[in-house]
Amino acid sequence: MAEAKEPNPEFTRKVIEGGGKTVNLCFQCGTCTGSCPSGRQTAFRVRKVVRRAQLGFEEDVLPSDDLWLCTKCFTCYERCPRGVEIVDIIMALRNMAVKKGYMAEAHRKVGEVISKTGHMVPFREEDKALRAKLGLEAVPPTVLSDPKALEEVKKITVICGFDKLVAQAGGK
Ligand code: SF4
Ligand code: SF4
Repeated sequence: MAEAKEPNPEFTRKVIEGGGKTVNLCFQCGTCTGSCPSGRQTAFRVRKVVRRAQLGFEEDVLPSDDLWLCTKCFTCYERCPRGVEIVDIIMALRNMAVKKGYMAEAHRKVGEVISKTGHMVPFREEDKALRAKLGLEAVPPTVLSDPKALEEVKKITVICGFDKLVAQAGGK
């Protein structure tokens, strides 16, 4: 029989300090899981993520794929009868996971694109043609047409360490 894990209050304290200050209010009713659109399509059970954070089961929660399946739609957040700020807990856990080198591959790729182009979604030649067809400037008035602004975005990603965090995350 597998050995039962001991709760780790030190990790729970870090979750609270990282923004998940309501984690201990959860009484495991499951309303969040029952409401979660992501959980309808996947094996993601947000109630379990909250429970693991509450008990301080760091090794179960930080490397877990589940952490990256939340789309931050806030449905659970609005419905929780205990006022648990679930998305804030997930964000606190993701911040900790990234610092340990865990990040979903899709998120890592988006991070790379933002660091390089200042946009989440790559701008393609087809987009230029589509914009021209709609009577718009071929390139939108964003960092895409302002090299100085793009340099500033790149500088911010370096100063705040975002580029390094993305680079060190091996992808999951
Ligand atoms: S809805 Fe709130 S109280 Fe219920 S399990 Fe989810 S986080 Fe816990
Ligand atoms: S915020 Fe995340 S965990 Fe909550 S319902 Fe939406 S996808 Fe599910």
